[in-house]
Amino acid sequence: MENQKILNGSLLARKIMKNLAVNIDFYTRKNKLRKPALCTILVGNNSASEIYINIKNKQATNIGITNINFNFNKEISEKELINLISKINRDPQIDGILVQLPLPRQIKTEKIFETIIPSKDVDGFHPNNVGLLSIGKPIFVPCTPKGCMVLLKSINVNLIGKNAVIVGRSNIVGKPMAQLLINSGATVTICNSKTKNLKDFTRNADILITATGIPHLIQADFVKPNSVILDVGISRLANGGITGDVDTYAVLPLIKAITPVPGGIGPMTLAMLMKNTWIAYKKYYLNLSS
Ligand code: NDP
Repeated sequence: MENQKILNGSLLARKIMKNLAVNIDFYTRKNKLRKPALCTILVGNNSASEIYINIKNKQATNIGITNINFNFNKEISEKELINLISKINRDPQIDGILVQLPLPRQIKTEKIFETIIPSKDVDGFHPNNVGLLSIGKPIFVPCTPKGCMVLLKSINVNLIGKNAVIVGRSNIVGKPMAQLLINSGATVTICNSKTKNLKDFTRNADILITATGIPHLIQADFVKPNSVILDVGISRLANGGITGDVDTYAVLPLIKAITPVPGGIGPMTLAMLMKNTWIAYKKYYLNLSS
């Protein structure tokens, strides 16, 4: 019974990928076109980023997306990186650009986001795409919040009139998540590290989305009975495993559904990256409207 409350993000992500693979194969074969191509830029040698990119490469290849990878040492200057991105922006063989975060200190992340041409911004971080999302007309939605919304839809959560509380206000998770929930008719509260009495807010959440990276911040007394919880946080444990922001086994008897870590939002994020690459290819290479 309790196990049925655990939302299997890996399974849903696999279904989405399978569907994408069929579509990619159909369009490219039928029209004798090149495959969609995703370019990934990694600066430095962060081992977590390297693992993520290897998984991403494997999954992209499996569904017929071509990988182009650039790997620079951490000394690269902001100007060099901008020049490279400008070149990729003009390359008609590339549909999507992903710059792996974090970047070294000499490079301003916002400047890099602004350099990626909006039509290849599969992460949805360019100010144009951020603006389109905020007025409810998104093209590229950031992959993690997009994955959260797809998961909620998969279990038929009606967001209209619901209290949604987001813990974390980053530009890549918390803020776009809030926009998506607002656009879906939820009443949205965003908390941060300065929020006083966090549980006063979270206990009121029909939908709780937490993205802090603080292991087990959310305990049983933080949750509303029968709520749905999406645990975005990822923290590395001393034994090499990973855990989320929520003490899953403490909250499980109370709540309706929760995403596990690992196997919840992580695989959905990757699936959405592939989906956004496919959207870029269809919209700007095939000139199809949806
Ligand atoms: P950031 O560090 O940019 O943001 C963390 C947010 O959490 C900040 O807004 C911070 O508040 C808030 N916060 C920190 N401590 C508390 C606290 N005690 N109470 C309330 N709020 C708090 O991280 P990201 O948004 O990039 O990522 C968040 C987590 O999600 C990380 O663990 C990351 O690894 C994971 N992640 C997982 C993904 C996935 O695919 N599953 C994808 C992306 C991220 P303040 O702004 O005041 O500092």
